Amino acid sequence: MSVQYDELFLFIEGEWIGGAGRDNSTVLNPATGAVIGRVPHARREDLDRALEAADRGFEVWRRTPAYDRAKVLRGTAALLRERAEAIARQLTLEQGKALHEAQYEVASAADYFEWFAEEGRRVYGRTVPSRRPEVHQRVHKEPIGPVAAFAPWNFPAITPSRKIAAALAAGCSVVLKPGEECPATALAIARALDDAGLPRGVLNVVFGLPELISRHLIESPVIRKVSFTGSVPVGRLLAAQAGQALKPITLELGGHAPVLVFADADLDAAARLVAAGKFRGTGQICLSPTRILVQRPVYEAFLSKFVAETQALKVGDGLDPETQVGPISNARRVEAIAALVADARACGATVRTGGGRIDRPGLFWQPTVLTDVPAHARVMHEEPFGPLAVVCPFETIDEALAEANRLPYGLAAYAFTESTRTAVRVGNELEAGMIGINHAQMIVCELPFGGIKDSGYGSEGGAEGIQSYLSTKFISQI
Ligand code: NAD
Repeated sequence: MSVQYDELFLFIEGEWIGGAGRDNSTVLNPATGAVIGRVPHARREDLDRALEAADRGFEVWRRTPAYDRAKVLRGTAALLRERAEAIARQLTLEQGKALHEAQYEVASAADYFEWFAEEGRRVYGRTVPSRRPEVHQRVHKEPIGPVAAFAPWNFPAITPSRKIAAALAAGCSVVLKPGEECPATALAIARALDDAGLPRGVLNVVFGLPELISRHLIESPVIRKVSFTGSVPVGRLLAAQAGQALKPITLELGGHAPVLVFADADLDAAARLVAAGKFRGTGQICLSPTRILVQRPVYEAFLSKFVAETQALKVGDGLDPETQVGPISNARRVEAIAALVADARACGATVRTGGGRIDRPGLFWQPTVLTDVPAHARVMHEEPFGPLAVVCPFETIDEALAEANRLPYGLAAYAFTESTRTAVRVGNELEAGMIGINHAQMIVCELPFGGIKDSGYGSEGGAEGIQSYLSTKFISQI
């Protein structure tokens, strides 16, 4: 199926700026390896213009009533739904994921705009009884200011939308730097906002060399808040820069999600749901289950079901309607997965299925399941961020919880059990920001999204999501 790839721009002060006179980088279709576009890189003057636009846009937007801001956000949701099919095809073309996942992602992005449209209208202040009868004390919530938001390439629709929708609902303006690998989807979201009537400069979208852009934006006195989704090392770097500039930052970083499959679990459901969760997005999801810990009495039974589910997945070009698992999105991740598998093998691991590249053009890797992986193997410590799972046995709930909580990550964790007592205990004791018990689908706009420990801090969705874009002021008046 041939799909035309959109032309790429910077979006600054309501203007769509082409690549003439600017450096650029290529955008590849990971299913074929073909160059499909060139994304223009912002020059220093472009970044300064985006900052000035965000500064001016903030003054307009903060004074726009929440009721009217909500209309623009709801209009954006409606346009995203209207254009969902076309945007999903762009997303699959540049990112690789199966078209049905891309369609689901665009629908979720629309949901985030609608959710935050309403949350923006529920930003209440309060009156606090005073100690003196003539004093009136009011607490206000105000938009924190222009935001620098950095989104990666694995969820090109949901991640920018979660950041933009919450910030705009609060009354903030935004300079967004999406992943350079998947620019068209972010631009389609900006286009929907523009068409829905967002005033000029309230959202600006720039691309370029990430380290240059992030430093420039975070150091600028215009920016009052930073939000980043990506890897732990880059999160540490940006947190240090934001700390130096005394700006709050929300960080949604990597994970190494454990799954605890207890002997009393519904093994068929567990195998099906864990395989679907693991290989969704070709494993390039921070919530992706990685260490699958199975209680000894059902270890072999679960393993054979899980391997069968994995082998049944149809890998292919995401645009093929039959495809369930697309290619890996970029060559960096293929090399990383190959290195983790080679290391595990050298440490004595058994490859139960997969284990290598698929011999066809593009960046395809066989969905891979490893067992007998010793604790010192790299894959037991490093986030694979790809189609690679490890299955290990455990004896007791204490042993399983200790292994689950062993790593510095704390993003997602899962458990499968029919016992309420076990479910309550693992819910309480797993160290993770998001816990799925007997299911693995957790990206929903009305729920908070975020991790603990090295997986970052701050929540992006739910009622919590808007709070990080607000500051608190009290007014005490006689
Ligand atoms: P990477 O560490 O090079 O980059 C991660 C993301 O950060 C990318 O989107 C990149 O464009 C951006 N980035 C890099 N340096 C930056 C900087 N100085 N300022 C602003 N943004 C910057 O890794 P990668 O190869 O792109 O992705 C793989 C790793 O990233 C994975 O191991 C995973 O841990 C992590 N990741 C996590 C998520 C998530 O949802 N939490 C998403 C994508 C990637």
